[in-house]
Amino acid sequence: MSDPAVLHNFIGGSWQQSAATEFLDVTNPATGEVLSEVPLSPAGEVDRAVQKGAKAFQAWRRVPATERVQFLFRFKNLLEEHFEAIAQTITRECGKTIGESRGELWRGIENVEVACGIPSLMQGYNNEDIASGIDEHMVRQPLGVVACITPFNFPGMIPLWFLPYAIATGNCFVLKPSEKVPSTSAWLVRLLSETGLPDGVVQMVHGGRAAVDALCDHHDVRAVSFVGSTAVARYVYARATGNGKRAQCQGGAKNAAIILDDADMEMTGRIVADSAYGCAGQRCLANSLAVTVGNARGPFTEVMLEAAGTRRVGYGLNEDSQMGPVITHESRLRIERLIGVAKDEGARVLVDGRDRVVHGFERGNWVFPTLLDGVPRDGSTAATEIFGPVFGLMHADSLDDAITLINRQRYGNMACLFTSSGAAARQFRSEAEVGNIGINLGVAAPMAFYPFSGWKDSFFGTLHAQGRHGVEFYTQTKVVVERWPSAWTRRF
Ligand code: NAD
Repeated sequence: MSDPAVLHNFIGGSWQQSAATEFLDVTNPATGEVLSEVPLSPAGEVDRAVQKGAKAFQAWRRVPATERVQFLFRFKNLLEEHFEAIAQTITRECGKTIGESRGELWRGIENVEVACGIPSLMQGYNNEDIASGIDEHMVRQPLGVVACITPFNFPGMIPLWFLPYAIATGNCFVLKPSEKVPSTSAWLVRLLSETGLPDGVVQMVHGGRAAVDALCDHHDVRAVSFVGSTAVARYVYARATGNGKRAQCQGGAKNAAIILDDADMEMTGRIVADSAYGCAGQRCLANSLAVTVGNARGPFTEVMLEAAGTRRVGYGLNEDSQMGPVITHESRLRIERLIGVAKDEGARVLVDGRDRVVHGFERGNWVFPTLLDGVPRDGSTAATEIFGPVFGLMHADSLDDAITLINRQRYGNMACLFTSSGAAARQFRSEAEVGNIGINLGVAAPMAFYPFSGWKDSFFGTLHAQGRHGVEFYTQTKVVVERWPSAWTRRF
């Protein structure tokens, strides 16, 4: 067997070997195979990437927006041309099923499509004769070099929540991908470079905390976009804004679904199970709790028992697998420990996904679908992001009570309601203190032209990813007030 490839950084338009002294294995979570080695790049390499970006910015910001988006049109075509190979890379390094990988890549491509509309999206506004002979207008200008730090769970989609908007608005971009899934980002950057994008507009530096700190501290980085766990999101937000930068930092989640007894139970069970167990529960929009109201408890428990017990777990590249492994062996141990904590706190383990293995894939990080009943309201399980295929049932007497339970959460990423009552839906969407709402939906992922919202400990900042928020985040407004004495104005 040949040695695994060592991944390179992409700086100033060329692939460069890192001078790192530390490297991590990138491992297929289903097979245990080491796919590549990723460098933990030192601060000096981040500095070099930022400097190349700052230099390229001077010319890139002057390229007309209509020409800048031509690179994105080409990028979209290349992403579609290599779609299947990229999806397979996602599955190999992230573990999710090939169908899930295709789905996330489509959601990423949608952002490229939206950013192709930048010439109109970044328009300003103006008034003629705001005072006698005076005109006033607002224009949007790019910031300079912007940085993006991404998590492991959507390697094909999350960089594309940011990159297309940043470069289309005239910024230069430094991507620091998750060290667990760096090859998907390498695909994206390789295809971008094939579009003929000028050197220095996009760079990629692999690494961990040292690279993140260097980006947050660098004088020439003007904005930081981050997606990951809440603890790191809070840290990056404080460090970047403390250094005077713009920051948008998306954090963790604990998403509940409220089930009313007038919901279509068969459909609800199917949708909630897909949300809870899809991507092995490693989705920031996974439903990890249900709050059944009144008589919904019995029938909903029945449908979830069936769903948890019958989901086909296996290697994501096998088309018939419905759920893949979790990302690392450490994650598996942590999730299994938290199932034990839930039991100790008084929850009943109705379906136990611990200590399971997929035949032929004994080195995989397997946790099977797990169903907990009677998760206590005040225990740690109700409040902890488990980030694995573990779904907990809680019970409430009324919709008011269920909404109160959701609003007590420290997180505010998403909440869902399953019902056939318009009045209940209206109350819920108005009162639930979360950024994304699903009504009869289990993964309320906003389309690319809506902000990917998130409140409370799920988001630090003001402007979210995607769409118009992305355009605002990556531009600064300039207001011009002007008077041009002329024969015409002198007449008055
Ligand atoms: P993570 O926080 O461990 O890592 C995210 C990024 O931060 C990586 O690039 C990593 O290298 C870097 N990092 C890790 N520790 C660091 C430290 N101490 N200092 C500086 N940088 C550090 O997150 P993860 O495990 O890769 O991703 C899973 C988390 O991301 C979950 O909590 C999930 O809910 C969250 N997430 C949130 C959203 C959202 O939109 N809110 C979307 C996807 C994932």
